[in-house]
Amino acid sequence: MKLKIGCISGDGIGPEIVREAKKVLEKTAGKYGHEISWTEILLGGASIDVHGVPLTPEVVQAAKESDAVLMGSIGGDANTSPWYQLPPDRRPEAGLLAIRRELGLFANLRPAVLYEELADACPLKKETSEAGFDLLIMRELTGGLYFGERRTTVENGLRTAVDTLVYNENEIRRIAVKAFDIARKRRGKVTSVDKANVLDSSRLWRAVVNEVAADYPDVELSHMLVDNCAMQLVKDPAQFDVILTENMFGDILSDEASMVTGSIGMLSSASLNDTKFGLYEPSHGSAPDIAGKNIANPIATILSAAMMLRYSFDLDKEADDMEQAVKQVLKEGFRTADIMPEGAAASCRKCSCSEMGDRIAERI
Ligand code: NAD
Repeated sequence: MKLKIGCISGDGIGPEIVREAKKVLEKTAGKYGHEISWTEILLGGASIDVHGVPLTPEVVQAAKESDAVLMGSIGGDANTSPWYQLPPDRRPEAGLLAIRRELGLFANLRPAVLYEELADACPLKKETSEAGFDLLIMRELTGGLYFGERRTTVENGLRTAVDTLVYNENEIRRIAVKAFDIARKRRGKVTSVDKANVLDSSRLWRAVVNEVAADYPDVELSHMLVDNCAMQLVKDPAQFDVILTENMFGDILSDEASMVTGSIGMLSSASLNDTKFGLYEPSHGSAPDIAGKNIANPIATILSAAMMLRYSFDLDKEADDMEQAVKQVLKEGFRTADIMPEGAAASCRKCSCSEMGDRIAERI
């Protein structure tokens, strides 16, 4: 198969971690007889340095012509980087928001996986962390409260603010379909999270999700109120497979879910539109404090690349292979500095970003 991949190395540690993900992807492609063509794309600070703006129309076009885009992360240190002297719409993050909009990315996927070998980093009770968990939050990204009408007025001398939470049934249906499709590739369970005891938008959400579920008799659907879900994520995260939810609930729950894994350098993510196209990137930022030192953890980016194979190319076996290689290297004790705690077992060995990439590629 020919894979046409756009590549945004980005800023800070971006080029270092993307280099390792490309290494592992190339090894995987070679093993299974696929051919990757890469298009390098400038976004964020790297684009400002060359073009004076964080995103150019040529870049949007190049991304659209790719089957999928792999990204490091963008942005710099807001206190010291000259990029943050620019007006807000010319700063690195403006480029990211604009490209997400241009590509129509409405579904954000954030897996939270607790690896047995890293259970000590999990802040949950020992019996919970020992059981491990592997869940995925699917968050609607382009509707709801963050995109509804808003205003602040003064009424009878009182400052009053209004935000509106709007969803139409098409917006709910398209993300529900994605969630059920993805659950089929996992353990076949969807938990739809809402606040249907209070909100009309949640009652519509629940009704439409039920309609979509009728086409997926092989997927088990349950509904959960968002306040309960926030509790269940720390009490018993292993009960979840795919959590499907609207924009603001997903914003909060996905941060909660990722933090219970305890390892920011391990967390992958993807944003999808209604084709097979996706933008795949680690959940963390560009970590300017450690950039250029070859000590960043490339695993979140490598796992994002595995998601790309699974969701944009339907190459599940290849994606499994990459994920297994990561597990194997962790099992053998290799750790970048961020996942090597004080007093780590004697069997653990600290390694650099590039060595971690080499080890994982060797296990493919
Ligand atoms: P950050 O995620 O970059 O860093 C937070 C802490 O985690 C830092 O101590 C960093 O060294 C560490 N860290 C992050 N990734 C790591 C990795 N792979 N290996 C080892 N340690 C890692 O968050 P921040 O410092 O708040 O933001 C830095 C910049 O990143 C800002 O410009 C911000 O806007 C940007 N950012 C970009 C994205 C994106 O591109 N999608 C997302 C979040 C933040």
